[in-house]
Amino acid sequence: MNCPFCSIVEGEEDAVILDETEDTIAFAPLDSVSEGHLLVVPKAHYEHLFDVPEPILHAVTERARTIAERLRAHGFDGVNLLHASGEAAQQSVPHFHLHIAPRRHDDELDLWPASTHDESDFDRTYETVRTAIENGDAL
Ligand SMILES: [Zn+2]
Repeated sequence: MNCPFCSIVEGEEDAVILDETEDTIAFAPLDSVSEGHLLVVPKAHYEHLFDVPEPILHAVTERARTIAERLRAHGFDGVNLLHASGEAAQQSVPHFHLHIAPRRHDDELDLWPASTHDESDFDRTYETVRTAIENGDAL
């Protein structure tokens, strides 16, 4: 398997490693979107939100929270957690990962871009969403 994040976990690819636990590793991305932007990933390869086992998902999200808390205690004012699962969601590396983008009040970034999506079918759309949630994974 040729996964860049697995290569980082295995030490086969250079990366700025920032944190490591039994199940997770955090490192700087190739291109940062904010000061101190980092990725938190499971050491084991899972592609996306839909296949990562719950204990591993918990380990990654809990570690992301710990890192975010520590950043906030050291001068950052907030964080954006960014994630993509699936090609349709613009996932670029098929190894589950959370982006932590530390933020400052005065960083003048906009990591919450305005959308051009059409909301004219609002009621029907959210009825579909409600039905999907209530009916579990049955299609
Ligand atoms: Zn991988």
